[in-house]
Amino acid sequence: MNHFEFRASVLHPKGVLHAEDVPLPAIADAVGTPVYVYSRATLTRHARVFRDALAILPRVHLAFAVKSNPNLAVLKVLAAEGYGADVVSVGELDRALAAGIAPADVVFSGVGKTARELRRALEVGTGQFNLESEEEGRELAEIAQAMGLVATCTLRINPDVDAGTHEKISTGKAENKFGVPYDRAAGIYARLAVLSALNMRGIALHIGSQLASLDPLEAAFTKAGALMREIRGAGGTVTHMDLGGGVGVPYKAGEVFPQPAEYAAMIARVTADWDVTLMFEPGRLITGNTGVLLTEVVRVKEGAVHPWVVVDAAMNDLARPAMYDAWHDFSAVAPTGEHMTANIVGPICESSDTFAKARDIDVVTRGDLAVFHTAGAYGATMANTYNSRPMVPEVMVDGDKWAVVADRIEPSTILSAERVPSWLE
Ligand code: PLP
Repeated sequence: MNHFEFRASVLHPKGVLHAEDVPLPAIADAVGTPVYVYSRATLTRHARVFRDALAILPRVHLAFAVKSNPNLAVLKVLAAEGYGADVVSVGELDRALAAGIAPADVVFSGVGKTARELRRALEVGTGQFNLESEEEGRELAEIAQAMGLVATCTLRINPDVDAGTHEKISTGKAENKFGVPYDRAAGIYARLAVLSALNMRGIALHIGSQLASLDPLEAAFTKAGALMREIRGAGGTVTHMDLGGGVGVPYKAGEVFPQPAEYAAMIARVTADWDVTLMFEPGRLITGNTGVLLTEVVRVKEGAVHPWVVVDAAMNDLARPAMYDAWHDFSAVAPTGEHMTANIVGPICESSDTFAKARDIDVVTRGDLAVFHTAGAYGATMANTYNSRPMVPEVMVDGDKWAVVADRIEPSTILSAERVPSWLE
């Protein structure tokens, strides 16, 4: 459920798309396009639905996966809802702290944390490091020891379970770079647990993103539970199990995905006798449906088979279709009720700058506004300035209020950060 809806008027009997109480044309007029528009009410709702669903579990820690939407205003909303943060860089760590998330509620994930990042994370009192290898654990122990600190850690395992999602967002198969091999995990855990600068307290796993079924998650959690028993059986301590994120969201109208309550019920069943704090790192489930990418049609160009709808958003603003062949529903902001079959593309000089092919869409023409739906996760966060385009801005709506929460960064600002060495003058 989200708070983007068409509201009809005499002038627009088919409605004009609103974010909560704000008509999207008002934002386009003031800020220009392309622009991401987030609904605070939707964000809050998703945060609460997930949190409330997990309330059936005894001890829970929620760490929002910052990578899915690191906007400061978004993080502030989630901090107020009691979420900690799952970060994968010092940049994300600093954002979480700037949003008021306590360092103790931060989980530091990521396969390539550098020594500088580990040091900084220790300095600020990061609550948990999810170690991706024995090598990383030993390096962290050395750094912590030199600083006179103890780092609280879990060991990320690779359970070798196929998440059944797009291969580029699958992270839990043996051939993926993440975690330590399942059959070596108990030995690695035991060797790290004896290091006095590490407090090894559990296991972490995250098998992929945009999962359409709970079955692979259940299989992976069951394997993690068996490993937990093995570690405990050998005298090790396990008080925390970090089950990652990954539950998918519908991108096409009518698709059905696992509900938070079903996810929670599965976890309650699998973990009934674990006696641990369960940790979660949801991203897309919280932010996916909270945003749209608002764009303007530059022109409609005749095509060999179907017309090309050229919009002013491009793969630099929303990379998912180019990277993962991802689908985003597309609607006119003020639809006429008529439809056409068209290709939707951006202006970038790459054929992969294609949002949709031979898609049945609202009829649009030059100057019309349109949106790509479900763009709140892995949207603006992946944006870049390819083709020397501006960095896309972000807006948050709250009832009838709205504000720019990330400026458009103009190419001239980016150009001004570049230098020509004197020997080229
Ligand atoms: N945790 C880790 C370690 C991740 O790598 C990711 C995403 O890739 C997430 C959590 C969030 O995943 P999702 O947005 O699918 O919930």
